[in-house]
Amino acid sequence: MPIDATQPYDDGNIFARILRGEIPAKKVYEDEHAFAFHDINPQAPHHVLVIPKGRYVSWDDFSATADDAAIAGFVRAVGLVAREAGLVAPGYRLLANVGQDAHQEVPHLHVHIFAGRKLGPMLA
Ligand code: C5P
Repeated sequence: MPIDATQPYDDGNIFARILRGEIPAKKVYEDEHAFAFHDINPQAPHHVLVIPKGRYVSWDDFSATADDAAIAGFVRAVGLVAREAGLVAPGYRLLANVGQDAHQEVPHLHVHIFAGRKLGPMLA
């Protein structure tokens, strides 16, 4: 079920539990600002999720309330994860769903990295 992106942050959400090590994830990267892992239900040959370590429901509260170091650290981590996976030359797609109409399912900000096949025109 898609979530309401205006809801308060829920510390019991599944990505919060992954960050706390309560649920396993196939980690690909971690630093002080970000954690990246393989999506459990990949939609492309390469499908990684990058999440910030702070408590943000979506891109909305992250962009509005995170401090500059957290934003810069997270954005740089997304780029680094893609670059280190060798995705720049073939190309990749970033996606962050926000709320109901975008079908955001997990109420902790996550940026999808899709790659490994021709992804076609952007979804609208
Ligand atoms: O953007 P959206 O919220 O719809 O995407 C959630 C993503 O989280 C899905 O691609 C789903 O496969 C992934 N997921 C995961 N591990 C979990 C739960 C969900 O990788 N334990």
